[in-house]
Amino acid sequence: MTTIKMFGADWCPDCLRAKAFMKENNISFEYIDVDKSEEASRLVEKINNGKRIIPTVLIDDQPYTNPNNGILREVLGIEDNREKKVYDSVIIGAGAAGLTTAIYAQRDRFSTLILEKRNIGGNAFLTEKIENYPGFQSISGPELMQRMADQATELGATIELGVDVRGVFEEGDIFRLETNDGEFYGRSVVVATGSSYKKLRIPNEEDLIGSGVHFCATCDGAFYKDKEVIVVGGGNSALEEGLHLADFTKKVKFVNINENFKATETYLEQLATYDNIEVYHNRASLEFVTDEEEKFKGIKVRHNQTGAEDVITADGAFIFIGLQPNTGFIKKLVDLDERKFIQTNDQQETSVPGIFAAGDNRKGAIAQVAFAVGEGVAASYALRKYLKAKAYQPSSPVKALQVA
Ligand SMILES: Cc1cc2nc3c(=O)[nH]c(=O)nc-3n(C[C@H](O)[C@H](O)[C@H](O)COP(=O)(O)OP(=O)(O)OC[C@H]3O[C@@H](n4cnc5c(N)ncnc54)[C@H](O)[C@@H]3O)c2cc1C
Repeated sequence: MTTIKMFGADWCPDCLRAKAFMKENNISFEYIDVDKSEEASRLVEKINNGKRIIPTVLIDDQPYTNPNNGILREVLGIEDNREKKVYDSVIIGAGAAGLTTAIYAQRDRFSTLILEKRNIGGNAFLTEKIENYPGFQSISGPELMQRMADQATELGATIELGVDVRGVFEEGDIFRLETNDGEFYGRSVVVATGSSYKKLRIPNEEDLIGSGVHFCATCDGAFYKDKEVIVVGGGNSALEEGLHLADFTKKVKFVNINENFKATETYLEQLATYDNIEVYHNRASLEFVTDEEEKFKGIKVRHNQTGAEDVITADGAFIFIGLQPNTGFIKKLVDLDERKFIQTNDQQETSVPGIFAAGDNRKGAIAQVAFAVGEGVAASYALRKYLKAKAYQPSSPVKALQVA
């Protein structure tokens, strides 16, 4: 009998995805929370050459680091019984834009399949608290996004997690999507892939990602409880994430290339209430510095005016210096702008009829949940117009929302 041990943590999105996949397929496994076991945490680091990557799954003692659902299906011999059909629309990305498109399209009875490479919720899922989404004075990102996903699936949308779309191809009147986990087909496609954090592109960054250098405080911050961290950046995201880290770490050291923070007043007011924050303005990041065992030690910076170089030490660093759109997989098919955002007209139509874009990956979008939701609504209208012009009949059975 196969023995399976999964090392994870409650706050890790890929752990949630992998656990859900195992449960859906009735696979028994032992789940070990690395936050509750020093020994487990050390084992994960040993398996991954010093990197703290979860989920790490041991299948008959063979380690798999953050395996996607396709790999789990293959290694565990799980039959692929997913329905293979041509959906009225395949939506790439289960963030606010993609989920909203699905809610609206399903209400029009268009069948939708959402392909998501990680877990539901996109960037908003990684946000501790959202306090500017109308209707909620304050709501946690995971709760808001789970509500959107539940609404979409209750209306009949199918969500496939762990599916990374690698290419979209026009084949006659339909689109074929190539992924890490098989092919999928749609009469239309909505690209709602959002954006990801930019790297600093300085020496030692690549080697230290996952073991000292991070891009998501909600995902990896818990590793630094009572330790010191550096936050690189000076905008809203850097402040929001840095303040979250300051709640449970010993010290947060902000490294900002500009003279001042470029963040909203609310964050600046909150910042002033912490006594465990140090701020280094006007510093260019030169390289990450390691100790004699090649473990993270700090960041070398240069003062923009004096030219003085210095090493700021800490146990880890979090980088929040802006976002880049997740559009590499579609760059050969649709027109992008010089910053790689998808160009559309004001009806979310890309340069390819039948392919629409919504949310943070679209040129001109404002990176906010409420805006992404609006973009999803507009994309659903556009795909309805497109499918109706092609005389396609909606193919989803009528589903009523189950309201408690
Ligand atoms: C730290 C932080 C704090 C924020 N705080 C707030 C806030 O307080 N209020 C607010 O309104 N907004 C906030 N935002 C912005 C908000 O999260 C985004 O504007 C919103 O999530 C955009 O939604 P989206 O659907 O366009 O993209 P995303 O949320 O990025 O979702 C895109 C999804 O597509 C998936 N994907 C990408 N490429 C592929 C692929 N090839 N195949 C399959 N799936 C793919 C991704 O995994 C992701 O789940 C915050 C953002 C960050 C990063």
